[in-house]
Amino acid sequence: MTARQTAIEAISNHKVASTQDYLENAGEDIYGQYVFGEAAQRQYLAKPVFTKLRRTIAGLESFDHSIADAVAQGVKEWALAHGATHYTHWFVPLTGTSAEKHDSFLSPAGDSATLSEFSGKGLIQGEPDASSFPSGGIRSTFEARGYTAWDVTSPIFLQVEPNGVTLTIPTAFVSYTGEALDHKIPLLRSQEALGKQALRILKWFGNETTSRVFTNIGPEQEYFLVDRRLAELRPDIVLTGRTLFGAPSSKGQELEDQYFGTIRERMLAFMMDLDRDLWRLGIPSKTRHNEVAPAQFEMAPVYEATAVGSDHNMLVMNTMKKLAMRHDLVALLHEKPFKGVNGSGKHNNWSMATDDGENLLEPGNNPHDNAQFLAFLVAVIRAVNVHADLLRAGIADAGNDHRLGANEAPPAIVSVFLGAQLEDVVEQLEKGGASTSKTGGSMELGVTTLPVLPRDATDRNRTSPFAFTGNKFEFRAVGSSAPIYWPQTMLNTAVADSLEKLADDLEKLEPCDFAGLTKILSAIVKANKQVLFEGNNYAEEWHTEAEKRGLPNNKSTVDALPALATAKAKKLFAHFGVLSERELDARAEIIWERYVKVQNIEANATADIAKTMILPAAVKYLGQLLSAGTSKGVSQIFDKVVVLTDQLVDAIHALEHAQHAAHATGSLHAEAKAFHAHVIPAQEAVRAAADELETIVSDELWPLPKYRELLFQY
Ligand code: ADP
Ligand code: MG
Repeated sequence: MTARQTAIEAISNHKVASTQDYLENAGEDIYGQYVFGEAAQRQYLAKPVFTKLRRTIAGLESFDHSIADAVAQGVKEWALAHGATHYTHWFVPLTGTSAEKHDSFLSPAGDSATLSEFSGKGLIQGEPDASSFPSGGIRSTFEARGYTAWDVTSPIFLQVEPNGVTLTIPTAFVSYTGEALDHKIPLLRSQEALGKQALRILKWFGNETTSRVFTNIGPEQEYFLVDRRLAELRPDIVLTGRTLFGAPSSKGQELEDQYFGTIRERMLAFMMDLDRDLWRLGIPSKTRHNEVAPAQFEMAPVYEATAVGSDHNMLVMNTMKKLAMRHDLVALLHEKPFKGVNGSGKHNNWSMATDDGENLLEPGNNPHDNAQFLAFLVAVIRAVNVHADLLRAGIADAGNDHRLGANEAPPAIVSVFLGAQLEDVVEQLEKGGASTSKTGGSMELGVTTLPVLPRDATDRNRTSPFAFTGNKFEFRAVGSSAPIYWPQTMLNTAVADSLEKLADDLEKLEPCDFAGLTKILSAIVKANKQVLFEGNNYAEEWHTEAEKRGLPNNKSTVDALPALATAKAKKLFAHFGVLSERELDARAEIIWERYVKVQNIEANATADIAKTMILPAAVKYLGQLLSAGTSKGVSQIFDKVVVLTDQLVDAIHALEHAQHAAHATGSLHAEAKAFHAHVIPAQEAVRAAADELETIVSDELWPLPKYRELLFQY
């Protein structure tokens, strides 16, 4: 049997094991079990320490170092009670994946005795070598010091593995020079910037009770699951997380029978375990369903404060990957694992809220009459218009390039969808004041036994990159594998900018001068309405229309990244203290560098697989055809395979040549552009010849599991 056949046999014999006693592990009993949350804090900390810590977590006071040792002691007791032997600071460096270095609690105490030790310092501060993480030149091996600092707002948790437990402390990662080296710090800074400006506006509206404004995030996460035994036969999946080769399957997604379809037993078993694992970590996993493409799925949590929700999304992705292995599956989080099949995104649902529980994007029943809502809404519209280039740059990477604009995902043109009701209100506002709000009414279904349904005032638009959905915006162009900190940093900072301008203008008026407010909002709408678009963002006409309106259309990563180097960007991030010019430059360099590295790995893998797996299969098939005689049919096939084999060899040479030429350009940005302009098309040419060979060469000889197997065999 071939390796592929063996893998398929194993799948046929796969039985879904009942791994947990689900009656004893239902949601409520296990929720937050692995989190040092409020209940555990109350149990393990003395009352005054507990109270102080809670106030810090709520953002009401900064961390008081005098309680550090007491908190560490409580955390340690709790962790030991759960079987922990090690602890780690956990952070998200600019590699885009989380990082951790484990220390055991043990310290030797004389002859063959040990103590469990964990000090306040161990809790608050760590000191990983910063030179081995991407720093964009901020750190090097001879000046390598970096620190991790406990982020009190993100809950401490346990990583419970089959053979041991590690106490895990979410931290921020900073250079010895004080510069941010991670995704968390700028996000927290952008959050504070937005909060400060939003408070000014609330004050103007006479709000005396709110002391803090923050943002919430509910990221919907799309992913693929494929059988591990098949995936592991594909070096492209193992190395790049996507297929670099693969002819279309005879059946694809055309029957549209996957979306919301019945979830197959094996996948549901995975999802059951996923939810339980996430609930134990205090991650409020809420929805799960089949997505549009075969073998594609989605989960969404209940929204949380942005820093926590962003950490949680990292943990969701990590948990998916680890857990899939235990189910003999591989979770693919890449934006485009399969050519010709829908890719995966992340929909970041985002809103601004106050610490007394008000959602600032809640329009209420009469949005036209809700001046405060309109002020925040209009500020967001301006932010997206003025900083569309930054929002685009915040979601740019090699993976997402396959998706944006591919008529399955929002295009690279950033626009705002408001829906019929708000579109109308904003139009009225522009003309000098809004006096009515359209309502949805209700729907009779014509069957007595079916209920009359209330109709929303607004339809949905699945094609918009930035859509208002009821009481939040949904940023839908984020890549499925992306850590969401960076796009949210862009958004928060852009909105902080709008709120500041608005606050500056409002503070020149008497508080609650609504006529004055209307004039200001009307002017903002006039100046920014070109970003509003209610139609089909997938349509070709929109591209023409957007160009007429002067909206940026940065189609690829290499087009999008220069936005990070503009004077506008530098000023914006420095002004709000989110990123200094040096930090921003460093970050941009890291993203450029990463783009080149990812493309280079893909080019390497393409050439390698083509030369050592596909070409030999084609040659072997030629041998079989030769020995099969010289009938007309056989000769025709033989000739075709010869032609394609020659094409393949030529294309491999051209790819290697393009790669060398790109390396020789001499500058990082030129290299990235060369990869985009020349290497990617050369790689596509290799794939084209190989994919056609796949449709001709004997199935028995084909070394790579095929799309029909990866997508349908489980
Ligand atoms: P849909 O498919 O309609 O977009 P989902 O249920 O898949 O809906 O996801 C909606 C997401 O939006 C959830 O994560 C939900 O918690 C989140 N969400 C709801 N309200 C808010 C809000 N005010 N702020 C941020 N996120 C929100
Ligand atoms: Mg959604």
